[in-house]
Amino acid sequence: MPLDDVRVSVLDRAFMFGDAVYEVIRVYSGRAFLRGPHMDRLRRSLKEIRINADVDRIDARMGETLSRSGVAEGMVYIQVTRGAAPRRHQFPDPPVPPNELIYIEPLDGDPYDHLRENGASLLTVPDFRWGRCDIKSVNLLANCMAAQQAKAAGCLEALLIAEDGTVTEGSHTSAFGVKDGKVIASPLDERILPGITRALMLELCRRAGVEVVQHRMQQSDLTQIDELFLTGTTSEVLPVTKVDDKPIGTGRPGPVTARLYEAYHAHLQDWLKESD
Ligand code: PLP
Repeated sequence: MPLDDVRVSVLDRAFMFGDAVYEVIRVYSGRAFLRGPHMDRLRRSLKEIRINADVDRIDARMGETLSRSGVAEGMVYIQVTRGAAPRRHQFPDPPVPPNELIYIEPLDGDPYDHLRENGASLLTVPDFRWGRCDIKSVNLLANCMAAQQAKAAGCLEALLIAEDGTVTEGSHTSAFGVKDGKVIASPLDERILPGITRALMLELCRRAGVEVVQHRMQQSDLTQIDELFLTGTTSEVLPVTKVDDKPIGTGRPGPVTARLYEAYHAHLQDWLKESD
C-alpha cells in the first residue's frame, strides 16, 4: 500500500517507548544486498529484546514488496515493534501481535558522491547512548542528537567517543582507522552495532591480504593514524579527512581506503553478476 495510507496505533510500543528493532538494506539493481546477514541481525535483535516474529516470512514479504515497488536503486526499511497495547512499561502479557513495517525508498544516485574524492569531516561527540548498542533498536535519540550536532558544525557525521576515550563508531556508521597499512577495527562488544558493512569489510581485507588489528582506538590515536574511514549500508566505504577540523594523516583520502572502496565495488559487481 502507499506509505501515506499506512496507519499505526498511537499505542504502538515503538511510538510510546521505542520498543522496536529495525534494519536498513541497500538495493542495487532491484536486489537486496547482503540480505542474509541483515536478516540474521534482525533475528538476533528480535531475540535480544524478546519479540517473537517470523523473520523468514518478513524476508519473503520484503522480496515481494521490493519486486512490486519496481525500485532499482534504493533502500529497504524494516521495522518490527512489540505491538500496540495499553501503555505499561512491562511487556504485554499475554503478548500482542508484533507490528511489522517494510517500505522501499528509492535513492537518486550515490548520496555521498561529492565526498568520495575529497573525504568527509567529522565532529567528535560524547557517546551517551545506552549499554546495548549491539541491538539495532529504534531508540536513536542519542544518535540523532549527535548527528545534528555534527551537522550544525558543518560535518557529515559524528564520531562517538565513550567516557574512557574510546572511539566507538559514528552515529549511523562504523569507523575504522589505518596505521602503517593495517586496518584498525573496534572489536565487537555491547558498545557498538555489529555493522553488516563492517563485517563485509573485514572479509574484504582478509581476501585482499590487508592486515586487520582489532583494537579499541582512542581519541588520542586520531592524531597518529594515517587514514580513517566509515562504513555503512548507504555510505558504503567513505574516507574521512578531518576530525574536529584537524587533518587525519595527510588530510587527503588515503590509499588503503581507496583500495577497500574498490574492493567493495568489485565484490558488489560480482554479486550482481552472480544473482542475474
Ligand atoms: N553503527 C550504527 C550506530 C548504525 O546505525 C549503523 C547503520 O545504520 C552502522 C553502524 C552501520 O551498519 P551497517 O553496515 O549494517 O549499515
